[in-house]
Amino acid sequence: MHEISICQSLVSVVLDELTQRAIGPGRLQRVRVVAGQLHQLVPDALTFAYELLTRDTPAAGSQLEVRTPPLEAQCRSCGWRGAIEPPVFLCEACGAGVDIKGGDELFVEELELAD
Ligand SMILES: [Zn+2]
Repeated sequence: MHEISICQSLVSVVLDELTQRAIGPGRLQRVRVVAGQLHQLVPDALTFAYELLTRDTPAAGSQLEVRTPPLEAQCRSCGWRGAIEPPVFLCEACGAGVDIKGGDELFVEELELAD
C-alpha cells in the first residue's frame, strides 16, 4: 500500500519534531498534512496507516487531517494553465506536455498540541 510508505515519512517528521521540542505522549492532538492530488492518496488508507504507525509512539491517539490541493499544470508550449486530471498530463488547449505547478505538495503543515 502506497499510503504506508508516504505515511512513514510523515510520521518520522512528526516524531522528530516531538522529540526536538520535548513534547511527551498524549499532548499531540492533531497533525495537519498537505498532500497534493498528484499523490492520489486514499484518505481512509492514510488514516489507517497513521494509526498503525503512531501506535506506541508519543504521537499515539492524535488525529490526522489532510488537505489536498488540486493538481495544476502549465503548458510548455502555449502557456495554458489550469487543473488537470491524472493520468492525462497534457495541455487542454493544444495537447502539448505540461509542467506541474501545484498539487505535488507533501509535507507536515502544523502540529496542534493540547495545553
Ligand atoms: Zn498548450
